[in-house]
Amino acid sequence: MKKTIAVLPGDGIGKEVTQGAVSVLQAVGERFGHQFTFTFASIGGGAIDALGTPLPDETIEVCKKSDAVLLGAVGGPKWDGLPGHLRPEKGLLRIRKELNLYANLRPVSYYAATAETSPLRPEIIAGADMLVVRELTGGLYFGKPSERSTRDGEESVVDTLFYKKKEIERVIRLAFQLADTRRKKVTSVDKANVLESSRVWRETAEEIAREYPEVTLEHMLVDNAAMQLIKNPKQFDVLVTENMFGDILSDEASVLTGSLGMLPSASISEGGPYLYEPIHGSAPDIEGKNIANPIAMILSAAMMLRTSFGLEAEAEAIENAVEQVLESGLKTSDIALNGQKPIGTAEMIEEIKATI
Ligand code: ATP
Ligand code: MG
Repeated sequence: MKKTIAVLPGDGIGKEVTQGAVSVLQAVGERFGHQFTFTFASIGGGAIDALGTPLPDETIEVCKKSDAVLLGAVGGPKWDGLPGHLRPEKGLLRIRKELNLYANLRPVSYYAATAETSPLRPEIIAGADMLVVRELTGGLYFGKPSERSTRDGEESVVDTLFYKKKEIERVIRLAFQLADTRRKKVTSVDKANVLESSRVWRETAEEIAREYPEVTLEHMLVDNAAMQLIKNPKQFDVLVTENMFGDILSDEASVLTGSLGMLPSASISEGGPYLYEPIHGSAPDIEGKNIANPIAMILSAAMMLRTSFGLEAEAEAIENAVEQVLESGLKTSDIALNGQKPIGTAEMIEEIKATI
């Protein structure tokens, strides 16, 4: 199979971990006989320094012409003082918009080898395996108006939660499609006892559920979901929710795996290309020290192989290699236990490649 991949390393440890994902993909290509072509492009602080903008048009062009996009992370203290439109993070928001990435998928699963770094007891998290589907381009974060105002002569403020019914449908339908390939359960999270938008969300989930008779639908109020994630995470298969609830719940769910350095994500559009990135940021505090955990980025590359290219065996080869390396006791410093000598970023990448 021949595929073109746009690679946007970005800033900080984004550069180190992206390098790792690319070399792991090359190893998979050699082993399974695929030809992956990588086109590198700039985004974030590096792009501001070189070209005066956090997302050059050229980068958008490269992404749109590619079969998938791999993104590291953007930002760092060097660019903190810049005006809003010139922030590295603006590059990230704009690429999501340009590529119309309406859903963010975050798989969260238990790793025996890193369980001890989680604050939750092993018997609570053992076997947990869920997929959080977050709506990414609507809801409170994009509603207008969003402004300070005066109402009845008083200082006031308004944020707007706005969705088109179609936007709710497409993300819920995606959740059902994904659940159909997993344990066939969708938990739709809302606040239907209070919000009209949540009542429409709930009705829509009921409508879509009729298209998937094999999949069980359950509704859960967001406050209860926040508690259940910690109390009994094993009950969840696919969780689907609107933008802000998803933002909060997916970060909460990340404690199940122990480290931010372990979690991949995929962002989905209608028609592609899809974008894959680790959920962590550019981690300027550990940049250039060869201690960043490259696994979140490498697992994002595995998601790309499965989701964008349909290469299931190849994705599993990466996931199994990661698991084997961790089980053999090799860990980067974020997931190493007290008294255990950690390995570096480059060594972890080499171990995973060698295991593939
Ligand atoms: P952003 O705003 O871009 O999401 P952030 O401020 O949330 O960034 P991160 O860059 O994700 O922060 O880093 C949070 C903490 O987690 C830092 O102390 C960082 O060193 C650590 N960290 C993040 N990613 C990794 C990784 N891959 N390996 C090891 N430690 C990491
Ligand atoms: Mg963050």
